Amino acid sequence: MQTYAYGFPRLGKNREYKKIIENYWKGRSSEDELQMNINWLDKERLSTYKEYVDKFPVGEMTLYCNMLDTAIMVGLYDCKDLHGYYSLCRGKNALKLTKWFNTNYHYLVPEFAGFSPSNFTMRWNKPKEALQAHKKGIPYLIGPFTFLKLSKGIPERRFGDYLFNLIDVYKEIIRDFDEVHIDEPAFVTDISEKDIKFIKDAYKRLDTGNICLFTYYDSVDFLNVLYELPVKAIGLDFLSSEGNLKYIEKHGFVSDKYLIAGIVDGRNVWKTDIEWATNRLKHISKFSRNLVVSNSSPLYHLPITIEGEKLHRRLLKRLAFAKERLYELKLVASCLEGDYNEDYNAVVDDFGMNKKVRVCVKNLSPRDFEKEIPYPERATRQKKLLSFSLFPTTTIGSFPQTKEIREKRKDFKRGDISKEEYNSFIREKICDVIRFQEDSGLDVLVHGEFERTDMVEFFALKLRGIATTKNGWIISYGTRGYRPPIIYGDISRPKSMSVDEITFAQSLTKKPVKAILTGPITMIAWSFVREDVPIREVAYQIALCLKDEIKDLERSGIRIIQIDEPAFRERAPIKRRNWNEYFDWAIKSFRLASKSNPETQIHTHMCYSEFGEIIDEIKELDFDVISIEATRSKGDIIRYFKERGFNRQIGLGVWDVHSPDVPTVEEMKKIIKKAMKFIPKENLWINPDCGLKTRGWKEVVPAIENMVKAAKALRDELH
Ligand code: GLN
Ligand code: ZN
Repeated sequence: MQTYAYGFPRLGKNREYKKIIENYWKGRSSEDELQMNINWLDKERLSTYKEYVDKFPVGEMTLYCNMLDTAIMVGLYDCKDLHGYYSLCRGKNALKLTKWFNTNYHYLVPEFAGFSPSNFTMRWNKPKEALQAHKKGIPYLIGPFTFLKLSKGIPERRFGDYLFNLIDVYKEIIRDFDEVHIDEPAFVTDISEKDIKFIKDAYKRLDTGNICLFTYYDSVDFLNVLYELPVKAIGLDFLSSEGNLKYIEKHGFVSDKYLIAGIVDGRNVWKTDIEWATNRLKHISKFSRNLVVSNSSPLYHLPITIEGEKLHRRLLKRLAFAKERLYELKLVASCLEGDYNEDYNAVVDDFGMNKKVRVCVKNLSPRDFEKEIPYPERATRQKKLLSFSLFPTTTIGSFPQTKEIREKRKDFKRGDISKEEYNSFIREKICDVIRFQEDSGLDVLVHGEFERTDMVEFFALKLRGIATTKNGWIISYGTRGYRPPIIYGDISRPKSMSVDEITFAQSLTKKPVKAILTGPITMIAWSFVREDVPIREVAYQIALCLKDEIKDLERSGIRIIQIDEPAFRERAPIKRRNWNEYFDWAIKSFRLASKSNPETQIHTHMCYSEFGEIIDEIKELDFDVISIEATRSKGDIIRYFKERGFNRQIGLGVWDVHSPDVPTVEEMKKIIKKAMKFIPKENLWINPDCGLKTRGWKEVVPAIENMVKAAKALRDELH
């Protein structure tokens, strides 16, 4: 049986990708050097594939984003050089970044406004170039349907025109190859009959006979149509849901195509049960004689390798990252030929198990998810205690993580400075930021999150049952990586996690300091999560830890607590029919965590996602205040909140923190005035779109100043 792998991470074992590109940005290397180094890195990648599997794509490497590369390839953008390329990726004229399906990987959104479908032309034959890197590889492309669906600015009624014109360009690009790898993950979304027809007609025109078509992240609801397409092979995900298997069991598979069966996990880190996978493949082979074994989704959702990780022995032996997945493919293939390897076992034993935690979750009753006092009454009580004027101003939590802070953290980790020294440094920073916020006239202060590297990893380090890695980086967007923690056991909180810093901050000021916690859904979405218990239980375990944390904070005199849930929308399943189940546990976990004193004002924060479609679910969270990003839509997003009868307080984001530009007072006022059309002014707060950790003080100072001015000006105008 042949093995095929794709999506192997481009980051490099020691994050070489980041270094190579950022060096160029900093002017430390030339365009040629960048190219040379990236080619070297890609060679390394390809040789890893080659070591383990029979086939793999070439040309997956990109200098920033494959969606952008596709756009350039087909003539949407004209980039003369790397400078032009990177100006589309970052800086003032950058394209918008958005999450790729339901993952935390982001892509640049191609903008079609002003581009006519007749303008498509082949500007660049990237696959042909890529083939030079490895003669035996299969050229890689994002499929035309997925590419257009994820772009913006294409009028719905003209989608077909764009697609068919684009197809002609694709044909030109791919016709000379023996085989091409085409990714169409958009095929697993909820697709209309009209779109199915487009797909059918488009691919019929693309009858080059050499296409290996890949779908992943979920099952395809119109496999019957895929069967009819003139493609050579179809890649299906057999892990994320049962849909594909069920269809094949019922209707079989087509005899004239290869079935590329995704059976080792591209999205989670648990070792494959080789025996199970082998049996599953044997079962699938009853329906298709031409079977190839593969990963279930691209491997770039995983870190490169477990080699060198210093995790507990009993945990380490459960794990497989990207390189280990390649090995598993090899193992499964040889197992199918009757060659068993006894040493490679996916064991789940009682390591990390905590009976007490399980009992707590088991004993939860409906009351644990309900607030005792409804919002209107809570709001009245809180108002009495907090007595803000109109348009209270606040921030989302983090303040600039400067070079100085990062250096100090490194010193501390290396053991160059003591814990006491590090802590007193953090305290100094807290003092500074409290003074700054008081001087600026902000109403609700924060402690700045200087002690946190990452909002998920920070809490993961403090909780039992969650491990963090040394080098388990994955790309979030561009060159930016993060290390998802690994939730492997029952989760408990040995001691308070945030109380020290926050109560210290509160001791410095009479104004309320808002405590910032990361919510259960975001903890889960940005970690690798165990699969031996239902995800709902994992969420409740985290929620119970947060609930205890909130109690501790309340006891220490904290009156405002924000639970960040930026991944609330992203974590939702791709198919709507699975939403109810997800939102049920997602909402309940938030409610469980936030069942606090009615006098404690509970905030939540969400940003950079499509809220329009989930306002009803957001309402169910039963918080008191939500802060959201509103700058890009210039406040228009609030319209949806009104439409759905939202009656809580909203903190409007009036400053896009991804941009280095400082917004003016007028710009901010405009957003607030727009929002006032939809939401009573008494319910509006003012804040930046998100945390300020990636910004510099030179923007933060004037922007916060303008924010406070905007609030004051509006108060004056209204009195
Ligand atoms: N409290 C976090 C911060 O201010 C929120 C980050 C986020 O929403 N992604 O950085
Ligand atoms: Zn945010």
